[in-house]
Amino acid sequence: MTTVERLTEEEATRRLRDAGLRVTRQRVATLQALDEHPHATVEELVSALTPRLPKVSFQAVYLVVGDLVRAGLATRLDLPGQPSRYEPNRHDNHHHVVCTVCGRLEDVPCAVGEAPCLEPSHAHDMQILVADVLYRGVCRSCRESSAD
Ligand SMILES: [Zn+2]
Ligand SMILES: [Zn+2]
Ligand SMILES: [Zn+2]
Repeated sequence: MTTVERLTEEEATRRLRDAGLRVTRQRVATLQALDEHPHATVEELVSALTPRLPKVSFQAVYLVVGDLVRAGLATRLDLPGQPSRYEPNRHDNHHHVVCTVCGRLEDVPCAVGEAPCLEPSHAHDMQILVADVLYRGVCRSCRESSAD
């Protein structure tokens, strides 16, 4: 992992303006929290936001992330049997790998780089826009603990 600079309040504000969203403290703080906690659930975002916005509610954050997704600033990731997760939209068409034992989730770059990176042999006459790829595996620490 490379260390990335934290998303500043100014930069978060600029992104909201560029996306045509009204700038609110909750939206700025949520963008920053997403940047610091990629793949966070709404519940995790609420915990991350509470020090900055002590009265923030689940419902409020749920609405804010919905606005951010619609505006193209964030993306939602739905894994089977899990609450939705959110991350900043990096426009890199990256995919995810999940450990089937502990649930650890990581980004993996797309081998092709742009959507759709897979074309089905038969698409029922649909124009394919994106292929969601989810790799499932077993992480090193789960492999090591099962080897004992
Ligand atoms: Zn694992
Ligand atoms: Zn991701
Ligand atoms: Zn791909």
